[in-house]
Amino acid sequence: MLFIDVHTHSSSTQKDVFSIENKYPSSTDFSQPFSIGIHPWYITQNTIQDELNFIEQQLVSENCYAIGECGLDKVTEVDFSLQLEVFKQQIQLSEKHKKPLIIHCVKAFQEIIQLKKEIKPKQSWIVHGFNKNHQIALDLIRHEICLSFGRSLLKNKKLQETFPKLPLAFVFFETDTSEEHIEDIYNIATEQRKTKKEEIINTIKHNFNRIFKR
Ligand SMILES: [Zn+2]
Repeated sequence: MLFIDVHTHSSSTQKDVFSIENKYPSSTDFSQPFSIGIHPWYITQNTIQDELNFIEQQLVSENCYAIGECGLDKVTEVDFSLQLEVFKQQIQLSEKHKKPLIIHCVKAFQEIIQLKKEIKPKQSWIVHGFNKNHQIALDLIRHEICLSFGRSLLKNKKLQETFPKLPLAFVFFETDTSEEHIEDIYNIATEQRKTKKEEIINTIKHNFNRIFKR
């Protein structure tokens, strides 16, 4: 593997790419590396327990690399205290089964940091699709939360100013739902950090081995 795509919603067929495909409790195919979780948009009160049970069954699979995406979203209509409850249950599963967390976070970064401080998890947390400002990035990293960057890095000028100043040891890349190739994200990262592509490739690989224990 050359390029690591830590969060995608499509199955990769490219041979230089290792990707973690996002799955849901309704998914049926777990034959490729995946993460699984209850997304805050799709919480329905009466199926939570069944879904958590199903997730827990999948977590023991060799192909399961992480739990998520799960998290907190202040823009969705799902009740925020219910989101918190479901997120905390997934944090517990992450700790119990020693799988990192892939986090969806919209306007709830302080809550994520607060939970990290309270729970002091052993597993790593990765905020996916990061596209916020330098201060939020530093706050998360100061609390040892990793950031995964996707298509925003190609387009968002502010993010392009922030990104080169962040420690690469807390960085991952992803394609999420976009059509871009993961290599495009590596290329723009290389360009913005004014470094060699090998350095980016090797550091991300190193991060991956450290955090996913593979
Ligand atoms: Zn996603």
